Amino acid sequence: MKILINPSQEQLKETPEMLLKTVREPLMIYVDGLRQDITRGLVTLLHGNEPSGFRALHRWLKLGQKPLCNLVCFIPSIPAALIEPLFKYRVYPDQRDMNRCFLPPYYDEPGQLAEEILTQFQTYKPECILDIHNTSGHSPDFGVVTFENPSHEALVSLFCDRLIVTDLRLGALMETSTRRCPVVTIECGGAQDDGSDEIAWNGLQKYLFQEDVMSLEAGHRMDLYRHPVRLELIENTKIAYSDSYVLGTDLTVPSALDRYNFDTVEAGVLIAWLRGSDVEQSLRVNDAQGRNVFDDFFTIKGNQLLTAQRLKLFMITTRPDIALGDCLLYAAQEREHAILDT
Ligand SMILES: [Zn+2]
Repeated sequence: MKILINPSQEQLKETPEMLLKTVREPLMIYVDGLRQDITRGLVTLLHGNEPSGFRALHRWLKLGQKPLCNLVCFIPSIPAALIEPLFKYRVYPDQRDMNRCFLPPYYDEPGQLAEEILTQFQTYKPECILDIHNTSGHSPDFGVVTFENPSHEALVSLFCDRLIVTDLRLGALMETSTRRCPVVTIECGGAQDDGSDEIAWNGLQKYLFQEDVMSLEAGHRMDLYRHPVRLELIENTKIAYSDSYVLGTDLTVPSALDRYNFDTVEAGVLIAWLRGSDVEQSLRVNDAQGRNVFDDFFTIKGNQLLTAQRLKLFMITTRPDIALGDCLLYAAQEREHAILDT
């Protein structure tokens, strides 16, 4: 891992892309704050195709300002991001997803990098950590946390008013969150969406300069969803995106399914056309306890996969590689919806 301490304008290069092309490996950046007794943590570009947080960080670093508190940043997936076309690859080919590696054993290259990041965080002892992502499909912005806690909600509220509380455990960085050092995931919206870079930029400003980032301001309202599940496809499932069933595929997903991201959809909404009803065996919907809860969320009628009840859908991807390698979408039951009003 390359380390830059209080980087000079020369070291930062002109553009975020030029910096990546110069560094070519995972990068740590440390910047002294106006007050030296507190440090804040930041991770971004954990997925190589999610650049909004990194662009915001670079834009701010180029201003040459001091943050209020010390800042320790990690930009891990530079090698994946650099594969042409730039910012296309979520993961370096044949490696594990970086955001599934923050759990021992740290046996491979991304695992060892995750361990190194956690060790550095133990040294620098940040008061909190933000992990800034984009979604791969079109989506509004939202935060994800692993348990309900006022400091989690406050950190997410620097960026947005939508919050998912997940009890799924996959090895994501946010799962290392503790009351002593809260860690939250921010999804700034789709990597291709116009507003996402600006959402990252505005939130980052608050994170860098606000005195207190861990108390929720009075009068703040957040939409909160609990107990999401993932719709996963087993290996070698054939998937396509189109506006009608594509012959030879196991499932064909409507091209614009991501328009439902963060919409509340009623029962009976089409998720995919299937080769036949036996495709159900290729689909997996497990809850946090590992129980198959497919029937609570989805139903198959003829050759159609439909929602089985009122759901909030999010992280719907329109990338077949991500649908296969990670999941097609997340869903939470509308009855798990709560409004936080302070
Ligand atoms: Zn991501």
